[in-house]
Amino acid sequence: MPLKTRHGPEPVRRPVHVRSGDTVVVISGKDRGKRGKVLRVLPKVNRVVVEGVNVSKKHVRPNQKVLQGGIIDQESAVDASNVMLVCRSCHEPARTGITTLEDGRRVRRCKRCGETLDR
Ligand SMILES: [Zn+2]
Repeated sequence: MPLKTRHGPEPVRRPVHVRSGDTVVVISGKDRGKRGKVLRVLPKVNRVVVEGVNVSKKHVRPNQKVLQGGIIDQESAVDASNVMLVCRSCHEPARTGITTLEDGRRVRRCKRCGETLDR
């Protein structure tokens, strides 16, 4: 399914290097240095929603879904290239590579400590 753009060629689609549930650190923008859990990944637009990052106040009216109106904090998506995956083994922000296991599965690997990040 082609991505709809108003003009110009389709943007380059890189696979997003993080998945929901990963811990990431923000490496640019106003939330630089913050760590948080990935809540959602939006591969089509190469963006991720990270807990506590890029939070803005949102004014909501009470409706059937939201019974309590008011001002709530809402995370918005940040570009996936602005976050770095935090390795669950060495607990450092690390670049990742893809490696193939003996059984043929392709998993992410921490380039810092060499540890496999997926089961
Ligand atoms: Zn590591």
